[in-house]
Amino acid sequence: MTTPTLMPYDEALARFEPVLGIETHIELGTASKMFCGCPTAFGAEPNTQVCPVCLGLPGSLPVTNHAAIEGIIKIGLALDCTIVEWCRFARKNYFYPDMPKDYQISQYDEPLCVDGHLDVEVDGETYRVEIERVHMEEDTGKSLHVGGATGRIQGADHSLVDYNRAGIPLVEIVTKPITATGDRAPLVARAYATELRELVRSLGVSDVRMEEGSMRCDVNVSLMPRGASEWGTRTETKNVNSLRSVERAVRSEIERQAGVLDAGGRIVQETRHFHEDTGRTTSGRSKEEAQDYRYFPEPDLVPMAPSREWVEELRASLPELPAARRARIQREWGLSDMELRDVVNAGAVGLIEATIAAGADAPSARKWWMNELSRHATERSVELADLPVTPEQVARVQAMVTAGELNDKLARQVFQGVLAGEGAPDDVVAARGLKIVSDEGELASVVDQVIADNADAADKVRGGKVAAAGALVGAVMKATRGQADAGRARELILEKLGAS
Ligand SMILES: [Zn+2]
Repeated sequence: MTTPTLMPYDEALARFEPVLGIETHIELGTASKMFCGCPTAFGAEPNTQVCPVCLGLPGSLPVTNHAAIEGIIKIGLALDCTIVEWCRFARKNYFYPDMPKDYQISQYDEPLCVDGHLDVEVDGETYRVEIERVHMEEDTGKSLHVGGATGRIQGADHSLVDYNRAGIPLVEIVTKPITATGDRAPLVARAYATELRELVRSLGVSDVRMEEGSMRCDVNVSLMPRGASEWGTRTETKNVNSLRSVERAVRSEIERQAGVLDAGGRIVQETRHFHEDTGRTTSGRSKEEAQDYRYFPEPDLVPMAPSREWVEELRASLPELPAARRARIQREWGLSDMELRDVVNAGAVGLIEATIAAGADAPSARKWWMNELSRHATERSVELADLPVTPEQVARVQAMVTAGELNDKLARQVFQGVLAGEGAPDDVVAARGLKIVSDEGELASVVDQVIADNADAADKVRGGKVAAAGALVGAVMKATRGQADAGRARELILEKLGAS
């Protein structure tokens, strides 16, 4: 097969309009599986969290996990969906080694939550992503292909199957076609995945860790020539496992499909795989012939009929959602749109909130996290939240600054000490001797010494050249290793030289 020529992104967008669709799978963080009592802990020894129900052994019967249904209804409500009054589970029949039952319990034509939306923002513009459905299903197990170079089945010696994941509650969120995004399509896709992750995280129903697979995105892309009214054939790029990859996968598919269409080819309806290393997708399974999953209503489970009272109780229990929270902090902290975006992108909202809760004022809390501590995080290539410093410690340092015990320069040294593992801020201050020299007598004697050592500058000040005092203040700061209150030192100098 020849590799089609990619069309440069700008040219592709000038000629084609992309249409997106995103299907997201989210593993709920329930203590037990969807239809049995097996634990769900990540990273356990293979096949230690299994039982006859999730292995599909004859005679076993599933029972619906109430906490999982509560979790999906919360997600549905947060996405402004309608929660249906009655629906059923369905059997999706297909054979795959990681699915011991040979069928997956899912929902087909009767999803639990329908017709929602999620607003996302890109470059100051809001895009409404319509949600088609949110349904409940169970996860499959995991195949491990051993002995090959890539971890894929090609070239492997043998394969192992781990059923620990089989039966973990899985919520699938399907968007309606996302249109009219133009050249921002990759950014809108990323913003949607980001916002959805924040939303679900705020509900506390999943840890939504893309790197551990508890949130996985499949991205559909099709192109239509500008001015056309009929959508093109779409491809589905599977299991894109980071926010950045969502953006790259969309971009890459746009360039590839435009290249194929430009060369007179046609887009094959298929699943594709995204490769982190090349940033490109490759062909997977063809979907030209619709697979027949022989869905039928799951005979072993009763229908779901969540009472309206329960749904309203859950609606009332929803926490403040990310968009409302952002609007609130922007107001309370007095941030511009740009400042808010920086704080959000730095992952600093919660840290700043906790620092304020620990007693700091908003501008100071924001300043430390966004400047000094962000710089350290960048140097260490870690997230802000992973720095070894707590919001309480930041608030403590700021309290010392406010009390005049530290200036900003000394405070930065305190943070260096805390980050280097030298202990809490008070320990670092004590061990490094970082307090401002606030003892009047001590400061006065330093000033006297500096005046004696710098007779020329002192004479100029005496003669009325107040500007010359700057050099003397500098000398005082040097003599105290930066630990004097510069303002007070200046006052003393002018006083002693009769220039105040
Ligand atoms: Zn089980």
